Amino acid sequence: MADISLSGIKKSYGKAKVLHGIDIDIKHGEFVVFVGPSGCGKSTLLRLIAGLEPITDGVLQIAGEPVNDLTPSQRKIAMVFQSYALYPHMTVYKNMAFGLTLGNKGPLGGLFGGGENKKLIDEKVQKAAKSLQLEDYLDRYPRELSGGQRQRVAIGRAIVRDPNVFLFDEPLSNLDAALRVNTRLEIAKLHQDLDATIIYVTHDQVEAMTLADKIVVVNEGHVAQCGSPLELYHHPANKFVAGFIGSPSMNFLEGTVTSTNAKTLEIILDYDGSSVKLPVHPDATEVGEKVTIGIRPEHMQEGTDLPFQLSTKVNVVERLGDASYLYLESGAKNPLCIKTDGHSHTKSGETIQICADFSAVHVFNALGNALTRTTTDDRYIAPKQSA
Ligand code: ADP
Ligand code: MG
Repeated sequence: MADISLSGIKKSYGKAKVLHGIDIDIKHGEFVVFVGPSGCGKSTLLRLIAGLEPITDGVLQIAGEPVNDLTPSQRKIAMVFQSYALYPHMTVYKNMAFGLTLGNKGPLGGLFGGGENKKLIDEKVQKAAKSLQLEDYLDRYPRELSGGQRQRVAIGRAIVRDPNVFLFDEPLSNLDAALRVNTRLEIAKLHQDLDATIIYVTHDQVEAMTLADKIVVVNEGHVAQCGSPLELYHHPANKFVAGFIGSPSMNFLEGTVTSTNAKTLEIILDYDGSSVKLPVHPDATEVGEKVTIGIRPEHMQEGTDLPFQLSTKVNVVERLGDASYLYLESGAKNPLCIKTDGHSHTKSGETIQICADFSAVHVFNALGNALTRTTTDDRYIAPKQSA
């Protein structure tokens, strides 16, 4: 069993603080994705877990034991990098077997002990090659492979070591779009087949949503939120997560709180001065505070059938066939986007009415924290589940 727990993990390079106290619990067998913008500290966190760099402060436990002072090999962790890091002068077979043959003596000799006998190594390589459909390529050199095949070799090299934990750092970034989807499916299947814990780093929220049991959103060295993909989609804890998860991104409109009572909040929108009463708890805000409301493009529609309404001008229409995206004036830098019927006849330049249900409206206070909803209507927002 390889439960992993991070508590109060900090990392500094000299005076530069990169991670500010990270707490995450990972269960054996879980597929956990660290997602966040470039530079937020994802790779650093992964390298600390792998043991490739010392932890500045905090405790990392694997299977209940602190491992801060253990070497990478003692942690029984295998890492797959974006750059594949294959040996160009070795065949696919040798690349995969190398970690098992390297060094012959004792626990620190090879990557995981090393020096296993030839027959056992061959069995492991053949089995991994089969599960990754690399059997026909074992005699080739990396330069004779496509990017996707090279990445599969890198994954195979991790599999043969039979680690407790797989770490992936942006493994699909160097692949073209079609191959990325394919390889993503293979990694999902791999996780089903292997009884292993996977920690996977990406800046791509779609990869995070499709692969993860649990997503950890990282922002500037802090955990912004941790939860299942749908928890993050339906119940973003703050404006950062709300804007990061979901594509196209959630729309934001600024406003000011004008009155509150036990279960509602009245807001005046900057855009058109209109007033709207929303079903949220007023506890974490006050009259006069600047707040932001957020509504996802797929939760808005043309017309006046739903109670939250706005009149605005269409700037651009994108027709994708199954759906059309309307980009609308919002008074702010970013246009409002609504996802509408593929058959919509709406044209740029028109002024239209758009609407949404109150249960689809998120409200964030001046600090960016989400206010709790008071509505039980779950047409748009799934009921919250305990983690
Ligand atoms: P991500 O993988 O999320 O894009 P990284 O973990 O690579 O981000 O980097 C996080 C921050 O730490 C960046 O600001 C980066 O410049 C800094 N950083 C990473 N490695 C080092 C290093 N060896 N020395 C100094 N700063 C580093
Ligand atoms: Mg990185």
